[in-house]
Amino acid sequence: MNTPTTKPEFSRRSQLFLEEMGLGPIWVPRDAGADTASPLPAGARSFHDAADETDAVMKSQANAPDFFADDAADLVAAADTHYAAQAIMSMQWPSLKETVAGCVKCSLCKGRTNTVFGTGDENAEWLFIGEGPGRNEDLQGDPFVGQAGKLLDNMLVELGVKRGSNAYIANVVKCRPTDQTGRDRPPTTEEASACLPYLQRQIELIKPKVLVALGKTAAISLLGLDANTPVGKLRGTVHRYGDLPLIVTYHPAYLLRKLTEKGKVWSDLCLAMSVQASDAQRPPG
Ligand code: URA
Ligand code: SF4
Repeated sequence: MNTPTTKPEFSRRSQLFLEEMGLGPIWVPRDAGADTASPLPAGARSFHDAADETDAVMKSQANAPDFFADDAADLVAAADTHYAAQAIMSMQWPSLKETVAGCVKCSLCKGRTNTVFGTGDENAEWLFIGEGPGRNEDLQGDPFVGQAGKLLDNMLVELGVKRGSNAYIANVVKCRPTDQTGRDRPPTTEEASACLPYLQRQIELIKPKVLVALGKTAAISLLGLDANTPVGKLRGTVHRYGDLPLIVTYHPAYLLRKLTEKGKVWSDLCLAMSVQASDAQRPPG
């Protein structure tokens, strides 16, 4: 009689790892060949052969330099990121909001009081994108609630829109980045890319007519540019984010420190208005 076989419990991580090593996923009972002809094609390895081989490889790697573990961890992390981003791309508003509220995808989750999802008209033609929550936003759970927020609200009035009425306001990262002294800082490239799928989905759901990137972080994250690109170089042009026009302007917090740049921001907003008023159709749906 064949020995009863139980299916070993392999985590998805282990399976991914085995498959990447070319060791998965063929399954046969250990004694399948004892009473009957082997169901395996010539040259194929049974799962147990493969598992033994994996054990051997693991043992031989026990004293191997760290790069082996690092490579495996990177591989698994990349696969996880890929699956998570795919799942986000099919979410509707309620699950997207819930997912962000519980997100631990990057280390910014550790210091937050609240996630800051974004706010406004979910069918808005205008989408304004900032960098990430500061202290006040972290405490209140809403974007742009401090002095910079007041300035942004004034800008919206000039455009004939407001939060909740044809305008939506979001950030690249949903949790507050701070430095070692507890002060606000821009998100790192890694933090921004961990969080970006949420913003990408917000853009897909809103289907705005125009995106306005407020400051460097939003501009370089959405346009996939080098972190050293100055905002000054990106102003005055209609960029593209997928099918959508994207205008870059200075961040309201920068403008508060440098009011002499007000005219430039106004001309950026005029450019955005001309794009928004153009006949370009919003994508259907
Ligand atoms: N700065 C930002 O970029 N976003 C906010 O929500 C607040 C300040
Ligand atoms: Fe998640 Fe974004 Fe917060 Fe990082 S910043 S924990 S990716 S919600």
